[in-house]
Amino acid sequence: MIDSARYSRQEIIAEIGKEGQKKIQKSHVAIIGIGALGSVAAELLARAGVGTLTIVDRDIVELSNLQRQTLFTEKDVGRSKTVAAAQRLNEINQEVVIIPKAIHLAAHNCDFLSAVDLILDCTDNLQTRFLINHYCRNQSKPWIYAAAIRTEGYIMPIVPGGPCLRCFISTAPTETCATAGVLNTIISSTASHQTTLALKIIVQGRKAVAENELIKIDVWENTIRKMVISKKKNCPVCLGKDDPLLQEEQTKIIPFCSGKKYQMTTKKDFAVLKKFWEKTGEILCDGETLSFKNILLFRDGRVLIKANSEEEAMVIYNQWIGS
Ligand SMILES: [Zn+2]
Repeated sequence: MIDSARYSRQEIIAEIGKEGQKKIQKSHVAIIGIGALGSVAAELLARAGVGTLTIVDRDIVELSNLQRQTLFTEKDVGRSKTVAAAQRLNEINQEVVIIPKAIHLAAHNCDFLSAVDLILDCTDNLQTRFLINHYCRNQSKPWIYAAAIRTEGYIMPIVPGGPCLRCFISTAPTETCATAGVLNTIISSTASHQTTLALKIIVQGRKAVAENELIKIDVWENTIRKMVISKKKNCPVCLGKDDPLLQEEQTKIIPFCSGKKYQMTTKKDFAVLKKFWEKTGEILCDGETLSFKNILLFRDGRVLIKANSEEEAMVIYNQWIGS
């Protein structure tokens, strides 16, 4: 069903035009993480007529996702996010080629990204962001960072030659969406900004976006701030070296022989995690260990997670401890 009426409202915008629309329809965008931000970005890009969308996610749909992950409905609970999202995106626009990848993105399996023009970071963890950052710097590929927590959202285009993510982030935030919460409206606002930057890069090229501008939105305070990010002199990634934080993250999961148990480590403070967890569920603390859901945390930062697979352990870790 190729009908010229489909994109008429978009082509009439001077910034896009018929030529811009053609570029959109030829483009290939990868969305890493098809959760909250990814749902909004994927839907907007599919409706805008992007040629190909590769969607990557390792997780399944849970009931607690439905508050903000707009591609999913109650009947999707328990399904693979990429499969459910691909089906919905096809219903929205059958002209778009959707490539679902139900994987845990890692250094050894990210080669497929070489085929895409642009990558949108819609992940919920720093480990994957560091991986995208490192990969894109090596491949001179543009990507767009986005993150949302509570009522705040952050967006920044990261393009070759400009500052990278590691120029301004070197430590993990103390809170995650599971412990601090996230309002669904900040998700839409953040993903809308991110998608606009994506369309700008597709239509006008990477020079059309400010390479050193981090945008911070607070929907509750009704504020948008632009912060200037400078290239960090000793940023390992910008210097073309390996990212030490990325290596550290990659080696930290140890499966136990007894099965269904995984050991990881965290540098986060015992008391801080205790405070966050107390807000969302029941915890047991004997002074030396802290037990919460299927997590057992030791004072020395060791974490034991009961899970059916390494990937599930990673999901639990990212959700309740944060990378
Ligand atoms: Zn850098």
